[in-house]
Amino acid sequence: MLAAAARKLNVPLHVLTPGAQDPATALASSVVLAELDDVAATRELARRSGAITFENEWVDLPALAPLSFDGVVFLPSLEALAPLVSKRGQRQMLQDQGLPCPRWCDLPTSGLLPEGFNYPLMAKASTGGYDGKGTAVLRSPEDLTALLARVPQGDWILEEFVNFEQELSQLACRDRAGNVRCYPLVQTHQHQQVCDWVLAPASVPHAVQAYARNIAASLLTAINYVGVISIELFYGPSGLQVNEIAPRTHNSGHFTIEAAHTSQFEQQVRIVAGLPMGSVEFQVPGALMVNLLGFESSEADYQAQRDDLAAIPEATVHWYGKEGSSPGRKLGHVTLLLHGVTAGERAGQAEQLLERVRSIWPLPPQNP
Ligand code: ADP
Repeated sequence: MLAAAARKLNVPLHVLTPGAQDPATALASSVVLAELDDVAATRELARRSGAITFENEWVDLPALAPLSFDGVVFLPSLEALAPLVSKRGQRQMLQDQGLPCPRWCDLPTSGLLPEGFNYPLMAKASTGGYDGKGTAVLRSPEDLTALLARVPQGDWILEEFVNFEQELSQLACRDRAGNVRCYPLVQTHQHQQVCDWVLAPASVPHAVQAYARNIAASLLTAINYVGVISIELFYGPSGLQVNEIAPRTHNSGHFTIEAAHTSQFEQQVRIVAGLPMGSVEFQVPGALMVNLLGFESSEADYQAQRDDLAAIPEATVHWYGKEGSSPGRKLGHVTLLLHGVTAGERAGQAEQLLERVRSIWPLPPQNP
């Protein structure tokens, strides 16, 4: 999607990937075929490019530091990424900046909880987790003992279990000159800890929207971040709390391709290429994005389902062309435009459309 945006803008884009079949290779100006942690290959990528950006946060910062020292431009910079590449780093940074997040601590190796922490708790791998892989709900001291026996020491954190009413996502961006823009706040819904659908815009009071923008602007400026970022938030009786920060374009912003004047991908290309940022406003009243999560293990291409989804009025299907489906795997997404003038009308339309999508594309089965 980033490569497609670069094409549209006529910005040459060179891709480093280990996969010759990676969909980006078909759209890239050139390809460096190598593992992502191959530093020599990253040097070659730098030789071809004016700046380097990232599609995920699994970046080997110490390995890339010499390149940065030699003048290679990374956007966001390695310094800005440093507090974001681990959950512990994110929590520490939020705490240092006085930004709201759930109370947390390191996983106590003694098996005794620090003062003020009670079950249930959420345990999280500091690095390498995604889509709920690397999280565990702890309901008792026995759960903690079992976790301590199976995970590497020092790698996990514990945090209070938040009784949120909604999960929200604030997509924002900052250019090289320090200008910040925030897309409208959206609601995200997870199924078994994987994003299932996104409703844009979220139906929350203006004060909440303003607070989310404020958090984003403070955070981006504090760490001198350049590029697109996604800030996932809990909203409920404890107010607004930052859950997770994704230093990149994000699944919760995919709907911007159809619904915003500037998609998150175009925005990222614009910022990295030094072009002026585009408008973050919507060109329609709203949108519903539904992820097409694998619901079985199969090699099928689901052409019939994709055709049925595409036949829904104002639906756009994005199919990622991955090899093989398994339950919960993100195989694509569909974006549906909403024209309701009020939040209530849009919520009603979204509910009907979600039902229609579900009749074509079922949810993955419940985990045991
Ligand atoms: P991942 O990196 O795997 O996406 P997250 O931290 O985003 O991990 O957690 C995945 C989901 O688990 C969240 O979207 C939320 O639904 C739930 N979750 C995460 N942290 C908490 C918490 N402290 N309290 C309650 N639910 C949580």
